Amino acid sequence: MVTFRNHGPNVTLYLENFAHSEPVPSGRAEMKQFMPFPDSNRAPLAGQHFQVAVIGGGIMGVAIARECARAGKRTLLVEQHDFAAGTTSRSSRMLSGLRALEKGEISFARESLRERERLLRDRPHLAHPAHFLLALNNQGKRSAMSVRTALWVYRRMAGRNVDAAGFEMARKKLERALDAGQRWSIFDYEDAQCEFPERLVAEWLVEAIAAGAVVRNHTQVMAVDVAHGRARGLLVRDWTRNLEEKIEATWIVNATGPWVDRTCGRSGIKMRRPMVSGVRGSHIVLSHFPGAPSTALYTEGADGRPLYIIPWNEQLLVGATHVPDTSDPGKVHPASDEIESLLHSLASLFPKARISQNDIRYSFAGIRNLPFDPSGDPGTVSRQHSIHDHQQENVARLISVIGGNLATAISVARDCVRMIGIRPAEPKPLAVADGPALDPLLDHFVVDVSRAASISEEASRAIVEWHGKRSMEIAGMAQSSAELRTTLCPHSEHIVAEAVEAYRNECAVTLGDVLLRRVPVALGPCWSETCSREAALRIGAVMGWNEETTGANLEALEMERAAYLRRPRTSMRLATAAD
Ligand SMILES: Cc1cc2nc3c(=O)[nH]c(=O)nc-3n(C[C@H](O)[C@H](O)[C@H](O)COP(=O)(O)OP(=O)(O)OC[C@H]3O[C@@H](n4cnc5c(N)ncnc54)[C@H](O)[C@@H]3O)c2cc1C
Repeated sequence: MVTFRNHGPNVTLYLENFAHSEPVPSGRAEMKQFMPFPDSNRAPLAGQHFQVAVIGGGIMGVAIARECARAGKRTLLVEQHDFAAGTTSRSSRMLSGLRALEKGEISFARESLRERERLLRDRPHLAHPAHFLLALNNQGKRSAMSVRTALWVYRRMAGRNVDAAGFEMARKKLERALDAGQRWSIFDYEDAQCEFPERLVAEWLVEAIAAGAVVRNHTQVMAVDVAHGRARGLLVRDWTRNLEEKIEATWIVNATGPWVDRTCGRSGIKMRRPMVSGVRGSHIVLSHFPGAPSTALYTEGADGRPLYIIPWNEQLLVGATHVPDTSDPGKVHPASDEIESLLHSLASLFPKARISQNDIRYSFAGIRNLPFDPSGDPGTVSRQHSIHDHQQENVARLISVIGGNLATAISVARDCVRMIGIRPAEPKPLAVADGPALDPLLDHFVVDVSRAASISEEASRAIVEWHGKRSMEIAGMAQSSAELRTTLCPHSEHIVAEAVEAYRNECAVTLGDVLLRRVPVALGPCWSETCSREAALRIGAVMGWNEETTGANLEALEMERAAYLRRPRTSMRLATAAD
């Protein structure tokens, strides 16, 4: 039996000092054995020259690196923690332009909708249309008339209509569950969801590598090397080998999301004012409760701010808050008053459900990298991206990316590469959409994968939904042994072969990289310490880990899970809200 072992300072330091935090001063003696999972297979970077070096492996950085590599440029992508471990995995996971439209940002709304359609077409296994209900009571900030008009415009812009019969059923069901003491106006619209942007990032990453990009996660940029008015390279620390290396680059793209100002600050680049305003957004994740909406719901919270209640990953995702926060984005977590406020809003909407904090499975938070706004009102700030050229600070060949959203990542990437003089490759069908679209063929494909892997159709469907056309490679691997066909935990359909694929081809280094992002079963409704232990054993058996390695991986996973997916400590009593 694998037990948690005390691995000395290694695992603790790795998670406390490295993951998402301020850089550790180089050369500290106790950092020598810092990373518990040394990756000796990595080729050294020192002395190499890249045409483009991208800092930050969130959705923007990965999209930019992919675009540069596809345009034939020698590209490096460096991520301090894991790909998609930053803001990208802390979002509400919607592909929408509605909020932009509400704020009158017509071109941003159009861009979001156009890019959303591309994702729906090209990645149908990851991006899905989602039917939304919009419920307003008579005390809300928005008038029913203005909402009706905005939705009419939105439908015209999106070119998507809703199914009227489906709306009637969903509306009646929602009305029965909502607080009957209030008068509700209920509307509907069609939007989209990318339930797992982590997977989208993993697919783009594989495509970037296939196009020649060199990518490194768990590798932190300690400083941008600036000399004679020009960015010349990077000093990076590879935590998997605890090694500092210098690389040269013709262009450097700072795509560190809410860390953009920090990245410049630590390199001595003085800005006249910050590029981003940090605004924390927190979510709570609950099990479904009786009367819980089965359709995504957009409404106003008790504080009048937008509130989404979204069926997600067999649970309900509720959020998000808006709290100015300039602290380290890597250490962000929901404050208890944010959790209380989300819970209070939910309990007020669904009083019959008698929701309590015990229904919360976990909470998580992220920092939005909104363009800096001196007025300090986060609700009004545009999310539209911009690209800052640091020539303004006398640092040529360094640009920083600000804002954007999940849907617009590719158009941000294309703007970025144009700015550094690269003609983006003509958009061509992405790997998964080569040939006929996946969607209509999905059922056949599921059967093919199930036969090729000798697994059930349920397991095959689960794999196809996360891996698209690459599922066949996983099926081929799974075919070779029963251990690879074993599920990751007794409650999941996902199998060990997916984890092995993550290590082999998707740059996973830690068990957290695998179970929280490449095969994100640990975000699911069943997950517990027992599931983590079971998964570590099953994966370890195939990877050839000894007991110590399995224990170290498990320990680091549980620490990361505890830091990321927080069990709320609120002592709130919701009896009055629920009565
Ligand atoms: C609460 C909330 C809800 C949201 N909801 C939605 C939504 O529903 N739909 C939507 O489209 N968008 C949403 N967003 C916005 C969306 O998540 C972001 O626009 C997007 O994820 C930003 O991606 P990014 O790559 O710029 O940043 P990140 O994902 O944060 O990536 C930046 C990366 O840089 C790395 N990094 C930092 N410093 C260094 C360094 N020194 N060296 C190496 N790497 C470094 C970080 O580790 C991080 O992984 C939401 C955001 C929040 C916070």
